[in-house]
Amino acid sequence: MASAAVESSFRATGMNSVSPQPEASCPICGGSGWRSIVQGKERKVVRCECRTKIRGERLLAAAKIPRRYEHCELSTFKYDPEDKEQKSLENARHFANRFVEEYPVEKTGLLFVGTVGVGKTHLAVGILKVLIRDKGVPCLFCDYRELLKSIQNSYNPSVPATEMQILRPVFDSEVLVLDELGAVHGTEWVFDTVNYILNSRYNDNKTTIITTNFPDKPERGQVEDDNPRSYSAAERAARRETLGDRIGERMRSRLHEMCKKVEMEGHDYRLHSKTAKFHPIEAPARIKVRGKKEGG
Ligand code: ADP
Repeated sequence: MASAAVESSFRATGMNSVSPQPEASCPICGGSGWRSIVQGKERKVVRCECRTKIRGERLLAAAKIPRRYEHCELSTFKYDPEDKEQKSLENARHFANRFVEEYPVEKTGLLFVGTVGVGKTHLAVGILKVLIRDKGVPCLFCDYRELLKSIQNSYNPSVPATEMQILRPVFDSEVLVLDELGAVHGTEWVFDTVNYILNSRYNDNKTTIITTNFPDKPERGQVEDDNPRSYSAAERAARRETLGDRIGERMRSRLHEMCKKVEMEGHDYRLHSKTAKFHPIEAPARIKVRGKKEGG
């Protein structure tokens, strides 16, 4: 996405823009937004469905789900229950179903961890859509890389948007999906910015759903300082970067307070879906969930 488009997309996400107006042409309420129902011997006035539907449409537009993920639904996330290698996908789908059932009574977020293409973003978007449609929750989808790029752009005097205008919807959104956390190389500025975003949401008790392609492991320096003999020079050079390397160790541990970790293992769905066996399966209502501080 071009930077100007990115900025306007972040700036335009005001949550006030979602207050619904009843549909003037509605055959049920005639545009009043209310309809009367009979319950037992009583007549009651309730909100008309047209109002709920319009609110859902507005919330969905305000969530800024990218077009490439518009097709993602929890119900279309597939796995083969017979295949042991897909067990983590089955669990991930159960976590997602359970999350939407329990929100907002349980507000702890989710941290989806796994390699590229295993369906982390698919589940995160599926969750947003159910929260919007079934519970009327204002949500926002945010690509981590694009967010950082537009914040950096805002430091350019010729760009009208301020850093706070870019960040306001990210802070305010009741439920935020932060997609591809760690996709930008970890510099001091990146650490500070992630710190600012995650701490603000944590302090306001707001729910954040995060996806990352990086293993949820400590920062390189941290492991080596703790146990200097644990890696040879060659091992150190070959070691894959971790989430700790990309966002800093302090923020990685903050994530464990904000989210339950959901690890997903498997192939890139786009490459394997034609040959592998995936079935859409309805998840059972209840599964065991790990304590929120346990993952890590
Ligand atoms: P990730 O975020 O893990 O990199 P994505 O969620 O972006 O992966 O998935 C890549 C594409 O494959 C998306 O179009 C997504 O809808 C699809 N996909 C991935 N896993 C599944 C699945 N288990 N069932 C259905 N579609 C899937």
